[in-house]
Amino acid sequence: MAGVVHSIDELVGHTPLMELDRFERQQHCGAHILAKLEFFNPTGSVKDRAALAMIQAAEQSGALKPGGTIVEQTSGNTGIGLAAFAAARGYRMEIFLERGASLERRLILQAYGARLLDYKDAIGLRPVAERSHPWQEPEREATLAEIAAYCRRTGAYFNNQAANPANPEAHFRTTGPEIWQDAGGNVDVLVCMAGTGGTGSGTARYLRSRNPGLRVVLVQPHPDSRLTPEHPDVQIIDGVLPAYGVPEEELSEYLTPDWSDEYINVRTAEAYATAHDVLHTEGLFLGTSAAAALHAAVQVGQRAEYAGKSIAVILPDNGMKYLSTPMYQQTI
Ligand code: PMP
Repeated sequence: MAGVVHSIDELVGHTPLMELDRFERQQHCGAHILAKLEFFNPTGSVKDRAALAMIQAAEQSGALKPGGTIVEQTSGNTGIGLAAFAAARGYRMEIFLERGASLERRLILQAYGARLLDYKDAIGLRPVAERSHPWQEPEREATLAEIAAYCRRTGAYFNNQAANPANPEAHFRTTGPEIWQDAGGNVDVLVCMAGTGGTGSGTARYLRSRNPGLRVVLVQPHPDSRLTPEHPDVQIIDGVLPAYGVPEEELSEYLTPDWSDEYINVRTAEAYATAHDVLHTEGLFLGTSAAAALHAAVQVGQRAEYAGKSIAVILPDNGMKYLSTPMYQQTI
């Protein structure tokens, strides 16, 4: 049965590249917009690529032992990917969830049996017996150093996607080549958002190796759409962070401005508006970061110098994990 797959590992990648013809016309966009539909991955996001590659690397290096526990700090998608591959391999998952993550992310992680921890667990303030408490958004996130110390204490494997080289490498090996091949070598611009920066830096590195003139546009959450002490209740764009204008010490390994040529800030409300436009022109149901990246891709594609050029845009996930947010509730 040559057409039958035998594990979800085999379902990762080879996602479609779709030109958004109707949307381009509606938006008066002279460029070709080639959308990389990453929600075709097995748990529904681009992070499946990195999650699988990181687990495989840890197995190969011996850092992750049979029956071991994987610990990760995640906005949700990486954790969901790790939890799925872990389930099929018999590992346990413990997740330090980033603040502001949508309800669906938490529920999916819990469905996989992942334990949700916070800084109190990391610094030993909560006894093990009390860990099955109902989830409450913590006052702060655990630091990487606290999580690393927790893992040393408990013997768990800290996956640490933000500094794990298998993360960008997965995109250098798969996402970039897939886009290049499906576009027939016609990629002038890459547009994406970044969380760890693994997707953007790895994909950009590959596409630049094929087209040294590639322009890379890093899309950032607008300052008005970032969680800050002054704006604790803003509706965020899940899973993404800014790189430009951020103090160097706050940047992580691959979340840096240097692999891009320019940035465009997008507000959550602008992403929502684009999500509705593309839903009604193409039938595509996007997640917030996908819609924000597409919003920026249109701005680039409307520039006179990009008429007839090809813009590849990464669409990390679809709308299913955002039904509890205001994103699609405006039309009810
Ligand atoms: N969009 C969404 C919805 C995500 O969950 C993530 C990962 N946190 C990203 C974009 C960014 O991916 P990366 O970590 O590869 O930069």
